[in-house]
Amino acid sequence: MTIMTSPTAIRPYNFSAGPAMLPEAVIQHIQDECLNWHDTGVSAMELNHRGPEFSELSATIERQFRTLLSVPDNYQVLFLHGGASHQFAQVPMNLMGHNPYADYVVSGYWSQRAFEQAVLLGQPNTIAKWSEAEQGLTIPDPTTWQYNQEAAYCHITPNETIVGLAFERPSDAPDSVVFVADMTSCLLSEPVDVSQYGIIYAGAQKNLGIAGLTVVIVRDDLLEHTFPWAPPIMRYKTQAEHRSLFNTPPLFAWYVTGLMVDWIEQQGGLEHFKTLNQQKADLLYQFIDEHPFYYNRIDPRYRSKMNISFQLIDETLNEAFLSGAQQQRLLGLKGHRSLGGMRASLYNAMPLHAVEQLVEFMKHFAEQHGG
Ligand SMILES: *Cc1c(COP(=O)(O)O)cnc(C)c1O
Repeated sequence: MTIMTSPTAIRPYNFSAGPAMLPEAVIQHIQDECLNWHDTGVSAMELNHRGPEFSELSATIERQFRTLLSVPDNYQVLFLHGGASHQFAQVPMNLMGHNPYADYVVSGYWSQRAFEQAVLLGQPNTIAKWSEAEQGLTIPDPTTWQYNQEAAYCHITPNETIVGLAFERPSDAPDSVVFVADMTSCLLSEPVDVSQYGIIYAGAQKNLGIAGLTVVIVRDDLLEHTFPWAPPIMRYKTQAEHRSLFNTPPLFAWYVTGLMVDWIEQQGGLEHFKTLNQQKADLLYQFIDEHPFYYNRIDPRYRSKMNISFQLIDETLNEAFLSGAQQQRLLGLKGHRSLGGMRASLYNAMPLHAVEQLVEFMKHFAEQHGG
């Protein structure tokens, strides 16, 4: 599959946190082969999931995904139904079967939701929690986290999408800690050492494609810790044995993720995006920090590169800001209701010149309003 890049002339930039903007080249590619996928006479939406074409397609996608992320052989890569929220329940269902204890780092809205699901199935314990401090919204320094030696796993959310708070997996954690990471809004934005985790999961609609699919990367030995009562469809082991084809999979979403993986490879892979994503984030944060009209509420040590929240000093201008941005074809900038203000999500598909345009607009808007 070759994905051609065509110039963006008319499409607006969608800064929404998710469902997020897709690369135009990917949408174009979908359009081009929509009526007839690879001379089969049917679309990718209509393929028989048990037929040879989809078997080959799904195997190719898995192989490419593994290569892109350097997934070690002792990990399964599952392409499952549903969103990351399903994993909030499926993780404890699959890991607490022999041991009800788990550590949770509650660094924002999504990890709180994950924690609440675990409470229904076992005895999770919050080992660190985000809070408002002098330096902004923050989390306790990861070097101070006290892990429970008995816990089955430690759940972290390295990029909290809603407020835009991010941290690295602590490198000084004992080897015995099994990290489970919700990477919904950061997977494939940079290289990751998968061997440092027991499980990594990500809903597709942020950086991997469209809603309906969640990728779960799970270490083989963790397939054996499921509750005995867990229904087969909820077991990672069942899904691994059936290569994620236990029932009809979300074919179309799976196919789109395959196109995203192709596109990421063609752009230069994860190192390329690491550099580019850093450049985009630096550009926007630097502008926000330097301009008295705007500010960011996150502890500078934990600022997200993917989701950048910012506030206007004068909140009464929020509506004017959003409608002005929309006129410049800069969409989806309204912040989450919990934080208010604005948020710009800069996933892989967001080009650098879109961020430059956003900064230009912000500068101009501030000038217009006496800032
Ligand atoms: C968006 C998001 C979720 C929720 O995803 P759904 O697909 O709506 O369930 C969970 N975790 C993180 C980090 C997210 O960004």
